[in-house]
Amino acid sequence: MSGRTKYLLDEDSMPTQWYNIVPDLPEPPPPPLHPATGQPVGPDDLAPLFPQALIGQEVTTDRFVDIPGEVIDVYRLWRPSPLFRARRLEKALGTPAKIYYKYEGVSPVGSHKPNTAVPQAFYNAAEGITRLTTETGAGQWGSALAFSCAQYGIDCEVWQVRASYDQKPYRKLMMETYGATVHPSPSDLTESGRKVLAEHPDSTGSLGIAISEAVEKAASDEGTRYALGSVLNHVLLHQTVIGEEALKQLELAGDTPDVLVGCTGGGSNFGGLAFPFLREKLAGRMSPTIRAVEPAACPSLTRGRYAYDFGDTAGLTPLLKMHTLGHDFIPDPIHAGGLRYHGMSPLLSHIYELGLIEAVAVPQQECFSAGVRFARAEGIIPAPEPTHALAACVREALRCKESGEEKVILTALCGHAHLDLPAYGAYLAGDMIDHELPQETLEASLAALPAT
Ligand SMILES: *Cc1c(COP(=O)(O)O)cnc(C)c1O
Repeated sequence: MSGRTKYLLDEDSMPTQWYNIVPDLPEPPPPPLHPATGQPVGPDDLAPLFPQALIGQEVTTDRFVDIPGEVIDVYRLWRPSPLFRARRLEKALGTPAKIYYKYEGVSPVGSHKPNTAVPQAFYNAAEGITRLTTETGAGQWGSALAFSCAQYGIDCEVWQVRASYDQKPYRKLMMETYGATVHPSPSDLTESGRKVLAEHPDSTGSLGIAISEAVEKAASDEGTRYALGSVLNHVLLHQTVIGEEALKQLELAGDTPDVLVGCTGGGSNFGGLAFPFLREKLAGRMSPTIRAVEPAACPSLTRGRYAYDFGDTAGLTPLLKMHTLGHDFIPDPIHAGGLRYHGMSPLLSHIYELGLIEAVAVPQQECFSAGVRFARAEGIIPAPEPTHALAACVREALRCKESGEEKVILTALCGHAHLDLPAYGAYLAGDMIDHELPQETLEASLAALPAT
């Protein structure tokens, strides 16, 4: 088991550009549409919600986008992040495969989310915006944005899904420590929230409802804009720092990946790791299999429809062409809160349709079993979301054990579980169940897709 375990880059070899995969694709992704006109949305439609710089990045066809110096300076707090060789997990599995993981839990909030929260806060502050609104589920995104707003001196207002607000007080306290204001969603502060509460006074909320509230607030206030932690092109763009660093680190290790796996909620940590490798694959320089892993309870890529749908429950966002389970779909309460979103990044959905990536859905007990195995071997307790990626790593590594293949497997360990330990408690106590999405539930939800 001896041998190098960590591959570290110096601060000065941090990427200075984000990578945009769009110009390297055989065809561009379909544009977002205005729900009223059915026409592609223009910059003016988005201006009440996002600063010009981010609207520009959302539609850019430049292959590379410079990272502002002010953003790099904040990235220095934790980037470059380490790449680990999981030698102890390999040994525990008895596999000839080599497993590498890019660890994003070293960020101040313990996940990959600040890779985009920092530039989003920066561009808003640079354009004179004084407050950002957003939604959060378990609180990973809300805490990342709260931290980032504090870096540039702007206010942060967060709608947190009621169930998490009540059950997981620690990330709310993190957000407040960074200076943010946190409301449970649905709230009586917005029309969208009041409408849900009128029908369901005891609603425990959903990400789709919380997005409606945050969007409504931003659209109605001049100095306020909205920030989204996943799904959109500019978010995936910012996350490519993960893959660019990993490319260099694997080169240090003298390996190229045969299989790349990552968990997908809205697609940002997966896209961030995978896109630079997909660029290399499209250029013929390597040929990894690239596999997205989603929960069986919320399987947008493997069982959703590729169709135009709203990003939120109230229908306030543009229509996005994406793999979706339907905008009013409310997933079962699995522990991986970050993977409970009805849609998938339009860019990633398009890439999946082009056949450039694969997808699998994994039940939650298998994920936590992999998470516990990983923790006992490698020490880090993975957040519930990346246990999905680890379950796929374990499957692949065990296939290699059968076949004797020495494949190189790469994954993103996109966060740690220090504030999600009750999920492990449920697993260890034998109280965890697998939620299979019934076909009738799915069909009922898909029947409510907007006509386009
Ligand atoms: C938010 C989150 C996710 C899901 O979002 P993606 O955009 O799919 O990456 C996954 N893991 C962690 C740790 C998260 O915080």
